[in-house]
Amino acid sequence: MRRRPPEPWPENTAEYIAGGLARQQRKSRDACPYSLGQLNVRSLWLAGWHDTDMTRGGGASPDYHATHCSRGVAAQPGETMTEHNIVSISGGKDSAATLLVALALEVPNLQAVFADTGHEHEETYEYVHYLANETGVPIQWVRADFTEQLARKRAFVATTWREHGVQEDVVLAAVEILQPTGNPFLDLCLWKGRFPSSKARFCTEELKRNPIFEQVFMPLMDGDSLILSWQGVRADESLDRRYLPECDEAGGGLFNYRPLLRWPVEAVFEAHRAAGIKPNPLYLQGCNRVGCMPCVNCTKDELREIALRWPWVIARLREWERLVSIASKRGAATFFTATNDPTVDAGDNITAATHGIDRMVEWANTSRGGRQYDLINLIARSGGDLRCSSAYGLCE
Ligand code: SF4
Repeated sequence: MRRRPPEPWPENTAEYIAGGLARQQRKSRDACPYSLGQLNVRSLWLAGWHDTDMTRGGGASPDYHATHCSRGVAAQPGETMTEHNIVSISGGKDSAATLLVALALEVPNLQAVFADTGHEHEETYEYVHYLANETGVPIQWVRADFTEQLARKRAFVATTWREHGVQEDVVLAAVEILQPTGNPFLDLCLWKGRFPSSKARFCTEELKRNPIFEQVFMPLMDGDSLILSWQGVRADESLDRRYLPECDEAGGGLFNYRPLLRWPVEAVFEAHRAAGIKPNPLYLQGCNRVGCMPCVNCTKDELREIALRWPWVIARLREWERLVSIASKRGAATFFTATNDPTVDAGDNITAATHGIDRMVEWANTSRGGRQYDLINLIARSGGDLRCSSAYGLCE
């Protein structure tokens, strides 16, 4: 039998975490799925199971959130503080696993919140409903509203643009288009006169952070409440997240809590399996991440998959580029920053029609970097090859 070398961080392994979760779900040691012939992984699973009993199961241990996150704000003798545990749901795997951990720990006043950007895939909306139904945890939907910002922008365009000599037909068209559509993502871009980008990522703040804070957290910040904001972020996702603390205080009784911070991705899917909850089906359809459809940070491969599977997404972006261009002083707005397209020349006149989403989709169908079409991909597609292409190998 080949032996695996000792794990430097056994508590980060999927088996250890799965064992801990099984214990929290009151399963016996006999539930261990590994046989005696798989001694290494069996030991890890049992170690997680035993350690959880001793409340040493890392971020997922039953008392962890109470001892770490409420430190320093615990009620004094004679005082009572109400603890609220609120999980932010994105529709993706990490936030779903976070909800499952909170549920397994039986934390008090558990609820979840989903910020609807108006730019999610239909399957994500259905998945958020599924998650609420299956777990029994209420998920509150919040949406940003830019009605006031658009009214201010209309006034600004009608005065300042005219003072700056912008053509009258451009001013009139912008004033007409700057009306709330009811779609938060589109309204945000109309207000800003541009789309967000990886360098100007105002979307997360405006569409998710602010509405959740204003509509969910602020009403609870009464001085007598301890609010734990459970966030499904993992250190191995990005450099930005690598050095995040597991818990920090935002102020006013609000704490950020990230119980999955040291989890590997396998443990996230294992948590779904252990709880009998399906991950968002988009992971089986070529999406590495679940979020806006698409996210401004989407990769070339993701964009190719999206254009192939869901042409309506591309049609919607084409229309949004037309509308936001009208609200832009330059008369041009593209969903993806045109300069990211390696085929764009410095002197090109950038417009949505010439450098918009259709050009990016065309580029996504080329092989690395340039304009040469990727024949292998095109041949696979012409055969109707729409099998599972999950980056996580979910189909065994
Ligand atoms: S998923 Fe992407 S586009 Fe959507 S809010 Fe987050 S960063 Fe912005």
